[in-house]
Amino acid sequence: MTHDEYESKSQAKRVEILKAEEKQMTHEELLQKLADIAHNKDAHEARNDYLLALRAVVELHQQIDDNSCYHCATWYPCPTIQAIEKELM
Ligand SMILES: [Zn+2]
Repeated sequence: MTHDEYESKSQAKRVEILKAEEKQMTHEELLQKLADIAHNKDAHEARNDYLLALRAVVELHQQIDDNSCYHCATWYPCPTIQAIEKELM
């Protein structure tokens, strides 16, 4: 699709196209991506990428009022947060 063809689409159609083109990574691809970042990027860039990714996970697994995890709908700290805390000790 050319840029002009894309521009001629309605907003709803554009969103549809972008979603279709957006590739969801498998678990293995995600692990490989983490390895690639460590291997191919300089330390500062890799650190920044990892921090942003980790922060996104922590924000997703936030504690809500009744002492449960917003994402997991289980207790807080959920296993994800516990795993992160363990690695940061
Ligand atoms: Zn959680």
